[in-house]
Amino acid sequence: MSEIKSRFEALQGATLRLRNSTAAERTAKLKAIWEAIVDRQDDLYEAGAKERSVQPVDIAGELIMVKAEIDFTSKNLAKWIKPKRVKNTMFTMGKTCEIRHQSKGVVLNLPAYNAPTAETFVPMISAMAAGNAIVVKPSEHAPLSAQILEDIIHKALPADEAYVVQGGVEVAQELLSLPFNHIYYTGGNTVGKIVMKAAADHFASVTLEMGGKSPVIIDETANLENAATKVAWGRVMNAGQVCVAPEYVIAHESIADAFSKHVAEKMDALYNSEKTGLENSEFVPRIINDRHTKRIKGLVDDALKKGAEVVFGGGSNDKKRYIEPTILSNMTEDMDIMQEEVFGPVLSLLTYKEKSEVIDLIAKRPNPLALYIYTTNSASAEYFLTNTSSGSAVVNNNCIQAGGNPNLPFGGVGASGMGRAGGYRGFVELSNERSIVHQPLDRFRDFMMQLPPYSEKYTGLVMKGIKK
Ligand code: NAD
Repeated sequence: MSEIKSRFEALQGATLRLRNSTAAERTAKLKAIWEAIVDRQDDLYEAGAKERSVQPVDIAGELIMVKAEIDFTSKNLAKWIKPKRVKNTMFTMGKTCEIRHQSKGVVLNLPAYNAPTAETFVPMISAMAAGNAIVVKPSEHAPLSAQILEDIIHKALPADEAYVVQGGVEVAQELLSLPFNHIYYTGGNTVGKIVMKAAADHFASVTLEMGGKSPVIIDETANLENAATKVAWGRVMNAGQVCVAPEYVIAHESIADAFSKHVAEKMDALYNSEKTGLENSEFVPRIINDRHTKRIKGLVDDALKKGAEVVFGGGSNDKKRYIEPTILSNMTEDMDIMQEEVFGPVLSLLTYKEKSEVIDLIAKRPNPLALYIYTTNSASAEYFLTNTSSGSAVVNNNCIQAGGNPNLPFGGVGASGMGRAGGYRGFVELSNERSIVHQPLDRFRDFMMQLPPYSEKYTGLVMKGIKK
């Protein structure tokens, strides 16, 4: 038997014990996770610097998300796991109806590389809170972070409750062949489909946290300078390797030129403040690997070949895995960049005249993970919110909806994902919401009118119920 299979079976063996563990026992383990993270925080900063050239404060941002989830879950778990009585209807009269949240069993977590610590722990906190055992396979594209995450988890939790295995596609495929009860996947659509198909073999439920092309709408009333600052930050942060990053702008034609000039100025002001050039700036992170650097460069080259114009940036340096923060205009639908998620610091600019054109442009693409609206007109914001679909939306800002507030469930819709992460919703996602009915056995409450031969009284009652 392979090591992976035997470890999986050990986790299966612990599921009943974990299912019946108390809120206090579970929160003690969350605390142990946090302490182990704090012990290794400097190593995580160093790994982030080596892998993506990000600053310690960027990784600390991920740790804060994790802490917010641990604190919120620890505070509320006793309440969440308490059986919840629900009201009766005519059909359950005299009975006691309740919902209990039970663990699903063993959960597989497959995170992406762009925020490895948050993507490992946020689902894991919900899985542990719900009483599951868990297997994590960190992304092979961030191996330094992956090893530290393994050390943290193996230090904090017993071997039959959590198992971290390193590896790439082959290991992921071996894991996907096992009868997990739930698979939690963060990554691109192509692998998302593989995960969903594999889950079907065992009827495992899935959470798919994917991405897509998140649009930004700038209407003619928007505060352009304010919007430009936020869009420039959202697009260049983590070198664009952010699932909710603004991918393309649809600006009203009357302000489009002014807006693009503002974004260009802001990209320079925020990321080239020392005037040493963007490539030398310590605030412009690197793309995770050569393959993704080439892929992003390929998207830009294809767009330029098909008539796109560079408003800002456009440079790259393969050897340094560097893509210059870039703004492109004159976009057309036949460009690959208008169909594929860039996941890099390249912003495309489109324009519109009538509001309905914005709706059509967004509807041409699969449902995005996020949608951003910049306007000072609340009727305009409502129009765009009600006529589009996305996993989340923000008015007059971007990216702030992810990870900052455990009261806001996070996730996608359609091609950008399914299921929700974080807070109570994350706990429910990884629980079996079990409905339980208790039938008292006294003669007043224990009656079964529905037995054949059907009485006139029973038939009359059901038929009357339909007419109502
Ligand atoms: P990816 O799809 O390449 O990899 C994700 C995971 O799948 C990794 O663990 C990887 O080992 C595994 N995997 C890769 N190929 C596989 C195969 N053939 N069979 C089985 N497993 C396989 O994703 P990525 O490139 O690391 O991440 C980028 C994507 O993730 C972007 O689309 C981004 O939008 C998305 N993302 C979404 C969220 C979110 O919360 N919605 C967060 C971060 C990233």
